[in-house]
Amino acid sequence: MDVTLLILRYGELWLKGGNRKDFVRILARRLRAGLKTAAPETELVVRHDRMEMRLGPGDAKAAMALAKRTPGIARIVAAVPVERDLQAMKALGVKLVAQALASDPHKTQSFRVASRRSDKRFELRSPDLDRELAEAVLAEHKLPIDLRGAELTLGCEIAPHGCSMWVQDVPGCGGLPVGSAGKTMLLLSGGIDSPVAGHLAQRRGCKLEAIYFHSPPFVPEETLQKVRELGQLLASAQGGLLLHSVYFTDIQKAIKKHCDTKHTVLLYRRFMYRIADKMAQMRRCDALVTGENLGQVASQTIENLDLVNRNCERIVFRPLITYDKRQVIDLARQIGSYDISIRPFDDCCTLFLPKNPTTRGKLHIIEAQEGRLEVDALIAEAIERSERFKLESAL
Ligand code: ATP
Ligand code: MG
Repeated sequence: MDVTLLILRYGELWLKGGNRKDFVRILARRLRAGLKTAAPETELVVRHDRMEMRLGPGDAKAAMALAKRTPGIARIVAAVPVERDLQAMKALGVKLVAQALASDPHKTQSFRVASRRSDKRFELRSPDLDRELAEAVLAEHKLPIDLRGAELTLGCEIAPHGCSMWVQDVPGCGGLPVGSAGKTMLLLSGGIDSPVAGHLAQRRGCKLEAIYFHSPPFVPEETLQKVRELGQLLASAQGGLLLHSVYFTDIQKAIKKHCDTKHTVLLYRRFMYRIADKMAQMRRCDALVTGENLGQVASQTIENLDLVNRNCERIVFRPLITYDKRQVIDLARQIGSYDISIRPFDDCCTLFLPKNPTTRGKLHIIEAQEGRLEVDALIAEAIERSERFKLESAL
């Protein structure tokens, strides 16, 4: 019994009142663009309270994967259409349950039926339909009924546009469609944190561009390659991503030459923020996103976060600020970035690293250090020598 229909439920989109139309439009556009490459024979239908994917032959797996990774979808039901006829529904229900039991190694599932009837032309009310379907299934399979916590639920919907049944109803990634909250600039390093921060921002509706600070030849090209691969992963939730690789070498050299070593990390980061903010302005991004986390390293104490923040006009989102590393790693594994991030290549923050970096920077001291540098000229040169990569979706 092949699944030919995916029913996509919106979840939080309902909360958005008058804006709902825009959210639905953005979500439909994302899904159509994704289907074009991943499952070209599948058709997307937008209905009042959900979307449906009518699966083309062989498209089921790719369409399901696309639905699961697309923010804005709360649940995905893998359904089989059925005639508006009780006998046909009973027969299909028995088959679907048999299939589910065959693929379950424990075979101890408790069971229930949950039907919904919005098409009042159908003669049975939903509690009566539940009973009829359950009787048909129980005649074939001995299963304990559990109306609240059943492990196996047979779903059935009778709607004016058609009827369908299912046993598979899985969570999507939730959140809001990418682009519904505007455009933001992600500071993307090759580490574990920043791709996860980017993913979380996407899930709240932020479309991303990414900026990476590269220091050749001190940092190898492999690190840039890692960042590109991480960018491609993020690109798959939004149909492409623009990555700016900024030439950071001369800034780091100048800091090493003219400033006290214990301030280097803080000085690097103030330059990064200034440049990211400028790039965000040029690219019309309304916020910055970073993978910063409170207290993890010397550069991420409250005092030092405050000092880097003062360099930019835009709001900075730090989705991971309160996360434990464990939580971040779990999320990184889920989105597939972990294995790329842990490849051993250096990042520019580890360059010329002092033994005892400042953990409580003072603004007047840092500004005095910066007074030894041609800040504006260094920034202008770094931006001038930046490269731009149009990354395609990895999936
Ligand atoms: P990550 O794992 O994301 O590299 P981290 O725990 O190593 O983070 P830091 O190296 O202090 O922490 O970086 C904090 C944040 O600053 C990163 O999450 C990222 O947003 C930004 N960042 C650091 N280095 C770079 C870089 N070379 N290019 C772009 N952004 C960077
Ligand atoms: Mg890092």
